[in-house]
Amino acid sequence: MPDIRPTVGSGALVLNATYEPLCVVSVRRAAILVLSAKAVCVADGDGILHSARSALPVPSVVRLTRFVRVPYRTHVGLSRRAIFARDGWRCAYCRGPAETIDHVFPRSRGGRHAWENVVAACARCNHTKGDKTPAELGWRLHCLPTAPKGIAWRVLGHRAPDPRWADWLDLREPEAA
Ligand SMILES: [Zn+2]
Repeated sequence: MPDIRPTVGSGALVLNATYEPLCVVSVRRAAILVLSAKAVCVADGDGILHSARSALPVPSVVRLTRFVRVPYRTHVGLSRRAIFARDGWRCAYCRGPAETIDHVFPRSRGGRHAWENVVAACARCNHTKGDKTPAELGWRLHCLPTAPKGIAWRVLGHRAPDPRWADWLDLREPEAA
């Protein structure tokens, strides 16, 4: 799951009229939704936005006043940042800071570029591993790589959620193996 870390100017979470998380937009876009009565602010962020005529607390979470039907992306795109986020920015082999992406079963030997076969790794482990498998080296993965699931991933992709959004994003992952 994405880890929760404070992000500065990270945008605003948009909820459907039903309080279901929809997407993340810029703070400016969220403010326009509120000012045009298309949304109401349900959680303030830090600071005040000033316009020529009014001042508005920076919105952190807004809820649409009318329900919109939006098809969800059902899977999270495989990107370097998304892999790092899933693995908590740690090397899958030594738990050191992650710097590279490693294919568990090496690509040179037919390993797939898929969530189940990629992990974050430090440069040293990646280099040492080369085109061997963890089993050949007697290495163990700290956890089995899987595709990320859950509403937070569905809405946020690789981006780290603002802690203020936790009430609306189901961050307790029911990740039974
Ligand atoms: Zn390592």
